[in-house]
Amino acid sequence: MKHQRLILATRNAGKITELRAILTAADLDIELVGADAYPDVPDVKETGVTFAENALLKAHALARATGHPAVADDSGLCVDVLGGAPGIFSARWAGRHGDDQANLDLLLAQLSDIADEHRAAHFACAAALALPDGTERVVEGKLEGTLRHTPAGTGGFGYDPILQPEGDTRTCAELTADEKNAISHRGKAFRALAPVVRELLG
Ligand code: IMP
Repeated sequence: MKHQRLILATRNAGKITELRAILTAADLDIELVGADAYPDVPDVKETGVTFAENALLKAHALARATGHPAVADDSGLCVDVLGGAPGIFSARWAGRHGDDQANLDLLLAQLSDIADEHRAAHFACAAALALPDGTERVVEGKLEGTLRHTPAGTGGFGYDPILQPEGDTRTCAELTADEKNAISHRGKAFRALAPVVRELLG
């Protein structure tokens, strides 16, 4: 495979490290750089109604603007009893984008009367790869679990302190970063992306 630059649509250094490790483990000679390397590229409006649509919108915008293949992900928490909400609204469920504590508090209040057996939920992530010529692929990953009544743990972010993965007794916020990456929606989606990168950039 020839050496290629791939842009990841994120300012989150953790996501770059995670995807870089996965591409390296798959023996792909890819130079992965964050969108920060292109400060003039404007943020794209997430007008899609699914994780996949929003991931594709971001990947295409970045690929067009930079002239390089681009990857973007979009993710959120889907609660069964809420019909899949907060879903694409996860980051702004309480009204203000990125207010993790308010989002979590509101969700817990909404579910306060719901018993354990009805508290199934999952994290979902779509990861999209777009080329400057418009070629696109999207893959998805899920992490199934149940929602606690009270938060536990100090690791992670967002809804991590209330999602207990299936088969575990801890919340996502009580896992190490490596433990979470091994089972997470984003880890699964990024790992599913490696063969797609090989197919399109090889
Ligand atoms: P983004 O796709 O990284 O922007 O994430 C959207 C929102 O979904 C975040 O703000 C969190 O509220 C939620 N979310 C996504 N992934 C996770 C996770 O791994 N743990 C906790 N919350 C998450």
